[in-house]
Amino acid sequence: MAKNRLVSASSPANARLRGGDLYPCFMFAGIDEVRLGNIFDFDEDDFRKRREDFIRASRKSNREDCGSCWAANICGGCMGSAFWASGRLTGNDPSWCEFQRETIAYVAEKIARLHSDKMLWQRLADAFKNATYEAEQRGVIV
Ligand code: SF4
Repeated sequence: MAKNRLVSASSPANARLRGGDLYPCFMFAGIDEVRLGNIFDFDEDDFRKRREDFIRASRKSNREDCGSCWAANICGGCMGSAFWASGRLTGNDPSWCEFQRETIAYVAEKIARLHSDKMLWQRLADAFKNATYEAEQRGVIV
């Protein structure tokens, strides 16, 4: 996940609708403002430009609230929910942001508590190592 952008921007999983229209994410399907092009009438230069515009809008440094948000280096954000809540490509979804910040603060506090207990911290570190090892063995992580 790119920490400097909200999710969906530049995602390889572009939505494609009947008629061949391309969008950066299924949540934007049908929104002309972010339509990237059409597979039956494809203009690569126009596609690249529109995609760059969308990526630019997703950068936290270009968004209305992210620049001053303490969670910006951790938050994954969501362009789709932000757009539907605010009606603007660079707007945010206040409910989602509040939930995101509360979740990050909750997890940070739990980690801090665990870190103050050496035995629990070691058990957590071991559990992560084991989970990572098992995921590598199963090919989930390469
Ligand atoms: S919580 Fe909201 S304002 Fe903060 S970085 Fe994430 S999307 Fe931006």
